[in-house]
Amino acid sequence: MVDMPDTPVTDTALPERLARAIALAGPIPVAQYMAAANAHYYATRDPLGAGGDFTTAPEISQMFGELVGLWCADLWDRAGCPEVAWVELGPGRGTLAADAARAMTKAGLTPPVHFVETSPALRAAQAERLPAATWHDAVDTLPTDRPLIVVANELFDALPIRQLVKREQWHERLVAAQDLLFLPIAGKPLPDAVIPEPFRDAPAGSILETSPAAVTIIRGLAKRIAAQGGALIAVDYGYEGPALGDTLQAVRGHAFANPFEAPGEHDLTAHVDFTTLAAAAQTEGAVAWGPVTQRDLLGALGIDSRTSALAKASPARAEALAADRRRLMDDMGTLFKALAITAPTWPTPAAFA
Ligand code: SAH
Repeated sequence: MVDMPDTPVTDTALPERLARAIALAGPIPVAQYMAAANAHYYATRDPLGAGGDFTTAPEISQMFGELVGLWCADLWDRAGCPEVAWVELGPGRGTLAADAARAMTKAGLTPPVHFVETSPALRAAQAERLPAATWHDAVDTLPTDRPLIVVANELFDALPIRQLVKREQWHERLVAAQDLLFLPIAGKPLPDAVIPEPFRDAPAGSILETSPAAVTIIRGLAKRIAAQGGALIAVDYGYEGPALGDTLQAVRGHAFANPFEAPGEHDLTAHVDFTTLAAAAQTEGAVAWGPVTQRDLLGALGIDSRTSALAKASPARAEALAADRRRLMDDMGTLFKALAITAPTWPTPAAFA
């Protein structure tokens, strides 16, 4: 865990601040609410692990980061071993990066590490694992002089989404406040032209989500990768959209909560629309692959032989390793998916053929 000062240096009264902003200027879009809530949430704690709010694949088992590292090293090797920069978006505690670095080093790849991370608390945790890394607030300051190999696990689901809600017509969904109670309401009606044709006559109550923030990041990286060379792999809870459905959810202490209660105290996430992200990458001249399920990704990268090798090296851990493998492959295996992006000049990534 990260040592945090007793009094958070950041905003201590996010609900009050949001309520005041809404009282002054009117209800705010869901995306603005989610961005403010998550910025506060991640800036003020280390949310990961059994004692935190949620657990991620790299925190379940070292095998996840190792296999992602192998994916990177294999692609780099077949691309002719160029000088690359290795990038992780939203690295959490730095666990994936440390595990991937170990696997990449064995394969002869020891690139400089760049982290894109907004949370000071998590930057501190990452610095303990990889002190030599370079940190960035956003993707636009990443190196421009070499291919980038970019990894992101459960980053895109934390980015703000816009929600549209159907009444008689489609409306932007906004967040209103009464005292410190927040509630979603329908804003001004939207012209039909902004709604994908199949959804224009959706039943009242339907919700349509988009993530302009995720699309912006993917487009920026895809443009760089197409021009500089390199690849990206993003793993997340997601779907092949666009599709109707309200996927905004709040998690605290490994249990679901109301996303419109206590902003900044829960982890807010939304499922990722991989189809839209793949299309965004293609418009920038990159090649998009997948999505494939986490189960197929890890299966193709050799999780079974890795589990056996680790169990052989420490027989006392065999049962725990088998349980970790089951969590990654069975519990999370089909809910989580991986999308890959490559430069047109780079080879086909493993597990995506
Ligand atoms: N990848 C890690 C952590 C996932 S939690 C793991 O799998 O364990 C989400 C991570 O994204 C955190 O590190 C959080 O601080 C970071 N994050 C959230 N919003 C971000 C943003 N807009 N830009 C960069 N990082 C962000």
